[in-house]
Amino acid sequence: MIPFVDLKAQYLSIQSEIDEAIQSVINQTAFIGGSYAAKFEKEFADFHGVKHCIACANGTDSLEILLQAMGVGPGDEVLVPALSWISTSEAVSTVGATPVFVDIVADYYTIDLDLIEAKITAKTKAIIPVHIYGQPVDMIRLMEIAKKHDLKVLEDCAQAHSATVNGQKIGTFGDCASFSFYPGKNLGAYGDSGGMITNDAEIARVARMIANHGQEGKHNHLMEGRNSRMDGIQAAVLSVKLKYLNQWTDARIANSKEYDALLKDSAVVTPKVIEHGKHVFHLYVIRSKKRAELMKALKAENVGVSIHYPTALPFLDCYKNRNHRIEDFPVAYEVTQEIISLPMFAELSKESIKTVANIILK
Ligand SMILES: *Cc1c(COP(=O)(O)O)cnc(C)c1O
Repeated sequence: MIPFVDLKAQYLSIQSEIDEAIQSVINQTAFIGGSYAAKFEKEFADFHGVKHCIACANGTDSLEILLQAMGVGPGDEVLVPALSWISTSEAVSTVGATPVFVDIVADYYTIDLDLIEAKITAKTKAIIPVHIYGQPVDMIRLMEIAKKHDLKVLEDCAQAHSATVNGQKIGTFGDCASFSFYPGKNLGAYGDSGGMITNDAEIARVARMIANHGQEGKHNHLMEGRNSRMDGIQAAVLSVKLKYLNQWTDARIANSKEYDALLKDSAVVTPKVIEHGKHVFHLYVIRSKKRAELMKALKAENVGVSIHYPTALPFLDCYKNRNHRIEDFPVAYEVTQEIISLPMFAELSKESIKTVANIILK
């Protein structure tokens, strides 16, 4: 049996440190926010070389809170890629704005930069590039487009912790960036949690306020906010795990190269990486015209496989009223008929990769 992801293997590799960290949170009854969250915020900001990090409850809240902190709301349009996890577009709707979908490029699965300008209207306020599967969006070009049209940029980094463009970490190009620390993400907690980073003091101030009931200091509610705080236990776990992130990222990249080499003469399409980009392989996604047969064969041999995502965002039932047509998002539509996510995690063995590749080759 080769699992899709093995969080237990990772835990066992750092068990004593994790157990100690969790116990110390309990000993100090530092359950919500507090010193552990503050410590992680400092470490995660330093990791990116940015001024501010605000820890919060999950990576969907962080998108919503940052949109609100940038003043995005009713009447505004926000450009989002046609392929992502629903949080990206959901967050736009939650703050009262309208998500406007942009098709993706087949080679990289990220937003098609050539299609952005045609989607810009007088109402467009922001763009949310998504570094999907760990593939960085070409942020140099995206920022040029955003500057030209005076648009805010919120990077959705939920799948791409420590990916880079020209050696610069993603999340540091836009006005602000959102991270998820959902357990299965490249940097994952032991429950839900998320984080926001920015160099903009005002975005940071407002985002922190919104995440804690609109308070600036205790009982000074300048606005109505919400409850989106990070648990002490999650923060303590993340502080331990952040130390290993570079090592785990290297292992993911090495695993991707292993797959690439073994599948190079097969009929499946293996992942490409943008020029000057560092892809961190949250997911190793291949494409096949015979997806159903391939998935059946892999499952028959107890290989964990999945599809991220079977339906492109514009075609989800919740957007039916928008009357999107296949020809509006042809690439996202076609890609979602063919993609398969193979097992990918730092501890995945070469042996397992070979087994998976052999089933595909056969
Ligand atoms: C996981 C994910 C999110 C949301 O994160 P949660 O912590 O699960 O709320 C947002 N965007 C993308 C692209 C994601 O993969």
